[in-house]
Amino acid sequence: MPELPEVETSLRGISPHIKNQKVTRVIIRQPKLRWPIPSNLPQLLEHQELKSLSRRAKYLLLHFEAGTLLIHLGMSGSLRIVANNTPAAKHDHVDISFANQKTIRLTDPRRFGAVLWLGKEPFKHPLLNKLGPEPLSDDLTGEYLYVKSRDKKVNIKQFLMNQCIVTGIGNIYCTEALFYAGIRPTRAAGNISLKRYQMLVTHIKIILKTAIEQGGTSLRDFVGSDGKPGYFKQELSTYGRSGLPCQQCQQPLIEIKQANRTTVYCKHCQT
Ligand SMILES: [Zn+2]
Repeated sequence: MPELPEVETSLRGISPHIKNQKVTRVIIRQPKLRWPIPSNLPQLLEHQELKSLSRRAKYLLLHFEAGTLLIHLGMSGSLRIVANNTPAAKHDHVDISFANQKTIRLTDPRRFGAVLWLGKEPFKHPLLNKLGPEPLSDDLTGEYLYVKSRDKKVNIKQFLMNQCIVTGIGNIYCTEALFYAGIRPTRAAGNISLKRYQMLVTHIKIILKTAIEQGGTSLRDFVGSDGKPGYFKQELSTYGRSGLPCQQCQQPLIEIKQANRTTVYCKHCQT
């Protein structure tokens, strides 16, 4: 599943190709994504100049004069730049073509992604108006998480994955950050000290920044036309390594389920 670093990498990959370009054509081949794509999207976008692009949580925001278009990659979505009129394959659901003969193409086999028109006040939309701070912004600090977590009995993993507390920390990076901070994922969020939250935030930022930097090396996958979505593989210490030796103590990592999501941790190193 695309997580924040993949979305940020997509943003950086597509931006230089389409920023300040005018939309010439919008093709919707399959409108049934997680929510229906608005049928008037071609009329809304055609002849509009793309003023800027940004990211909030895992949402890509394309800002036009008439309003903002939100793109979410869901479980399996990817965006690529292709030449205008490049033949579409089976799961290529949406094309937005620009005057410079470049098209952004949304491919999404499982169709959990979204393409929504948010109008002129995008941050008032229900998908965006309750989101917590960005993990890489100065607003995410150990103090912030410490204060937010007092009296919370929910486990730290679910607490961190709550998008109203902090955005964009998905299962993989949450599992990794808890390992590096030495915090057991089942521990109640309200029982963790300020010092440990400070450590945790340091690791969250390092892990996400590293992932984004590594994503930079696979930018070609987002802008090429080789048909590959090209999410980069990171070296992970816990996620996907259940039963394998902990890299710190060599004891086998264990796997549990929390809110139906897989968690892997070391019961010796994480307390
Ligand atoms: Zn260990």
